[in-house]
Amino acid sequence: MKALLDRARSFRRRVDFESDEYRKLAVGQFPEALFITCSDSRVIPALITGARPGEIFELRNAGNIVPPHDAYGAASGEAATIEYALEVLGVQDIVVCGHSHCGAMGALKYRADLSGLPRVDAWLDYARPALAPVLRDGGGADGEDAPVRGVAAVSDDPALREVVQLNIRNQLAVLREYPVARQQLNAGRLRLHGWYYEIDTGTIHELDEDGGFEVHGS
Ligand code: ZN
Repeated sequence: MKALLDRARSFRRRVDFESDEYRKLAVGQFPEALFITCSDSRVIPALITGARPGEIFELRNAGNIVPPHDAYGAASGEAATIEYALEVLGVQDIVVCGHSHCGAMGALKYRADLSGLPRVDAWLDYARPALAPVLRDGGGADGEDAPVRGVAAVSDDPALREVVQLNIRNQLAVLREYPVARQQLNAGRLRLHGWYYEIDTGTIHELDEDGGFEVHGS
C-alpha cells in the first residue's frame, strides 16, 4: 500500500491542474459511455480505451453483473448508476465488458465451494440461472467433478471463455429490460456493446449482431 499512497500523495504534483483539460472537469462531467465491468484489478477501462478523466462513467462489481432493475428494491447501486448515466449524464453507449481469467465466472464454471463466501454466492445467483446451459458440464478446473475451494485464480480455458461470453450476452439482455434503457433504445438514443477482454493479450473481442464475438482492427 505504501507505493500506492506515495503516488496518491504526489498525484497533484504530477498533473497540470491548471490545464484546460483539468479546468473543464470542474464545470461538470460529460462522459461518452457507461462502462460496466468486473471489479478485477487487471481490467482498467481508462487504460484499455485511452479515456481521459471525464470520458467514461464506470460501474464495477464481481462478474460485471447487471441485476434486474427491481432486484432489491430502491437501494440498488447498479440501478442507480445506470439510471443516473442515462437520465442525467445522457450517455448514449453502454459497454458490458467481461474478461478472461475471471474469478467470479470461474467460481461458477468450476463450481467453487463458496460456503465461506455467502455474499459472493448470493451475488452470483444473479448470473447463475441464465448460464445453466454452459455450466452443466461443470466440474473442477482440471475437468474432474470435485468442486474447487473458494474463488481461485483460473485459467482462460475455452469452457470458461464460453461462460464469460454468455454472461456478457445475458447481462446485456437484463440491461435492455431496464425501463430507462428500453425507452432510450426505442428512441434510438442508446447503443449497447458487449466486450470480452483478454487480460494477457489486451485483445478486445466485440459482440456482433449475430451473437458471436469478433476481433476488429489490428
Ligand atoms: Zn472478473
